[in-house]
Amino acid sequence: MTTGGNTIYDDLGVPPVINATGTKTRIGGTLIREEALEAMNRAAEAFVRISDLQAAASERISEVTGADAGYVTNGASSALTLGAAACIAGDDLELMANLPDTEGVPSEIVMPRTHRNGYDHALRAAGADIVDVGANDYHLGTGSENTQPWQLDAAITEETVAVAYMEKPFTRPPLETVVEIAHDNDVPVIVDAAAELPPTGNLSKYVDQGVDLVAFSGGKAIRGPQSSGILAGREDLIKSVARQHLDMHASEPVYDPPEELVDLEALPGVPLQGLGRSMKVGKEEIAGLIAALDAFVAEDDEAVLAEWHDRSERIAGELESIDVLDVEVANAGKTDAVSTVVVTVDEERSPVDAEMLVSALRAENPRIFVGGDDVPHSQFTINPRCLADSEADYVVDRIAANLEIEAE
Ligand SMILES: *Cc1c(COP(=O)(O)O)cnc(C)c1O
Repeated sequence: MTTGGNTIYDDLGVPPVINATGTKTRIGGTLIREEALEAMNRAAEAFVRISDLQAAASERISEVTGADAGYVTNGASSALTLGAAACIAGDDLELMANLPDTEGVPSEIVMPRTHRNGYDHALRAAGADIVDVGANDYHLGTGSENTQPWQLDAAITEETVAVAYMEKPFTRPPLETVVEIAHDNDVPVIVDAAAELPPTGNLSKYVDQGVDLVAFSGGKAIRGPQSSGILAGREDLIKSVARQHLDMHASEPVYDPPEELVDLEALPGVPLQGLGRSMKVGKEEIAGLIAALDAFVAEDDEAVLAEWHDRSERIAGELESIDVLDVEVANAGKTDAVSTVVVTVDEERSPVDAEMLVSALRAENPRIFVGGDDVPHSQFTINPRCLADSEADYVVDRIAANLEIEAE
């Protein structure tokens, strides 16, 4: 319970947050697992060569995802940047040294237009230009597809280094179709699956569907260190990532990186500090991510989802007793693995509208964050996954208090 005034944030004079909106980075993402914290503490007790540790992580990620290799990154976002850098530079040290400058070098990443999103800045940060394809007809009801397979095929040219895909249960065209088109053109596919866990089966699903690189957040459902992520995929691309990320600017006569990650024979010399150097991952984060991943895959998905669903139902039941609220539990097991409580405020009768309510909750101490994306439609949401049951009760009480109505 974070309401007792005894968090480290209270000590620092900063209001803590009760998280009723899910794994959002801006309010701390998730609570790290005990197993990961313990691993981080132990990692802090000794030195290790980071490349050795990444090589061990690669093996573990490869076992869990079925990919050839893997890498621990600074969040899924940096996994996307490093993945794009690998697709642009391959094993060319000079290109690596020039990134993100890609003048005169093939560096286009093709994306279905409806997959464009704020996180694709991560791809552009490597120096890529995004070429988006198709329109938005399906969503608008003006056509049956947003992007036709032939349009993707036509957009892939000599300038293309990858096709990027944002994975959601509803994204189209199907991933397998996109993989087929990309591979017919000898171009790799990078998938952003940052938030597509659980189910744990998704760790291997996209690799099974043939993708070349897939990014997951380590600080969302996996509940590893907040600044960790996973990139899994083709060995040659992961090796390129390692070269652009590891601090490798060592004395050449004694340069001896682990061969699983760096193919010394194929290198003309020692790589410089690469694009990834500003996305450092510490020994603590690598060890913590591996421990969290092990614990995550050992979890019973169904039990976790059922626990979240029960909490949603309970919260919905309590909010229903507030006269000016209309409450439903949405997305239970349909498009989204996590159920969400969707609350509509009857603004004709309520003393405050949805926007005022959401803002007032955020201004309290502790701050209460409910989902506010749909306040213009008089709605807010409560996501059960980062809430303890005692906090859920407190959130319901504070909503009632702000509506100046007693909850039952
Ligand atoms: C959260 C998220 C990211 C970024 O992940 P980090 O691990 O926070 O870097 C990227 N893409 C999508 C779709 C996300 O939801």
